[in-house]
Amino acid sequence: HYQVLASPVAQNGSATDVVLLMLDITDRYTAEMSRREFTANVSHELKTPLTSISGYAEIMRDGLARPEDMKAFAARICDEANRLIALVNDILELSRLDEHKGLGEKTEVDLLQMAQSVARHFMPRAEEKGIILSVDGMDLSVYGYPALLNEMIANLVDNAVKYTDRGGAVRISVAQRDNSIVLSVCDTGIGIPEEHQPHVFERFYRVDKSHSKATGGTGLGLSIVKHIAAVHDADIRLESEVGKGTCVHILFKRLHQL
Ligand code: ADP
Repeated sequence: HYQVLASPVAQNGSATDVVLLMLDITDRYTAEMSRREFTANVSHELKTPLTSISGYAEIMRDGLARPEDMKAFAARICDEANRLIALVNDILELSRLDEHKGLGEKTEVDLLQMAQSVARHFMPRAEEKGIILSVDGMDLSVYGYPALLNEMIANLVDNAVKYTDRGGAVRISVAQRDNSIVLSVCDTGIGIPEEHQPHVFERFYRVDKSHSKATGGTGLGLSIVKHIAAVHDADIRLESEVGKGTCVHILFKRLHQL
């Protein structure tokens, strides 16, 4: 996309030359488009739970719900309100990351220790689903923002537990490979179809909207992961096979090791 600036230059008061200045505004154009798209998506995502909250509340207010349904309706209102809270938190987090605001201080972060602490946090949920959650690997550190790295690992483990059926396994590992320190979160879950793989890191992209919603997903988890990886100059590799499972690898440059 180009912006053209034309300026007539009079020469000797007769014929007119025109100076054309063409500016490549592709970046600005795409940024503007994605901002618009994002706003449209956000509005849609906010509207859906709000519509359902007001629907259930109206039925209850007008005395149209059977007494035995009241509790279930109130539960739906709570679920939808919680979805809104999660959504607003994720949107705020994304805009903070976009503006590089409130990132805190960079320090040495022991990835294995952090993985263990995230695993402890998710253990009750994993146990509830009969999922074996484990951490292994080397005691390696990277230089980064602890709160962000914690959130990145938590988002990956959250997905792994969410998209893995009962009796499956989720494994977090920290390893050294060539010139990288690799943090991997692997699961034996439902997997991501190949055609969807290039898109799952986009904002609000979901493979299966109903499954993601049923499990409380906002569709923003992986785009937050992508942003946090970018802030740390880390690459992401996704390996996934339907019915077998998914691995997300975050590759930190060894340069960042202390
Ligand atoms: P959500 O909040 O919907 O989980 P994410 O941005 O975290 O949003 O993920 C985007 C989509 O990628 C999910 O809706 C899901 O379809 C797919 N996905 C993410 N992680 C996994 C995984 N570990 N296994 C299978 N599918 C996954």
